[in-house]
Amino acid sequence: MRRPFIAGNWKLNKTIAEAEELIGALLPRVGAVEDVDVVICPPFLALQAAVDSTRGSAVQVYAQNMHEKDSGAFTGEVSAPMLFELGVYGAIVGHSERRQLFGETDEGVARRAAGALEAGLWVIACVGETEAEREAGETEEVLRRQAGVLEAHEQLVLAYEPVWAIGTGKTATPEQAQEAHAFLRGLIDVPILYGGSVKPDNAAELLAQPDVDGALVGGASLDVESFAAICKAAAQSF
Ligand code: PEP
Repeated sequence: MRRPFIAGNWKLNKTIAEAEELIGALLPRVGAVEDVDVVICPPFLALQAAVDSTRGSAVQVYAQNMHEKDSGAFTGEVSAPMLFELGVYGAIVGHSERRQLFGETDEGVARRAAGALEAGLWVIACVGETEAEREAGETEEVLRRQAGVLEAHEQLVLAYEPVWAIGTGKTATPEQAQEAHAFLRGLIDVPILYGGSVKPDNAAELLAQPDVDGALVGGASLDVESFAAICKAAAQSF
């Protein structure tokens, strides 16, 4: 039995007070959603408040990134054991914004994933092609390269996030998503989320695809009604 997994990536949004307010509004709306793993990924500074505010609820808190090493001379970084101690449940690694804006490589993403898993965290590892790569017919090659460095693990989840669909309002068609997910599943047999402009009005058909196990939601996760609607769509489509 597959269990849908909906994660909200808040990116660089929400102060501590704003995070508490959003979670306060979210919990009554997703509390009754059964059989869906609901995850929120606030920025580092709001993680403690998020862990405290969600305690006793079914909502899990993930970080948006972490460093591969447990400790050392890595100024400005946060490690997996530090997150684990805080009560954080997992971390996103390899988001395309990290890859594109902060120079993260496939090998670095694999090391982060391994470090997080070693510390006991769950991991959402992101992969996905750019528009130019898709147009050049390189989608499978890119996915093979990005996912090929990852090893299956019971606490590893993959997110297929075509870069051209992130924050653009352009969504992969359900067929495009299914095709990429089926390809990825042939490489690594772990749950696979779809990410890229997921909204309440397109969630159900994306989530109905046989190899789409959930969604990684950016913009719409900052809107309580939208995020709750996506969680409900997930509950209904499985
Ligand atoms: C994301 O940030 O992972 C994402 C998919 O963003 P959006 O839903 O806004 O496209």
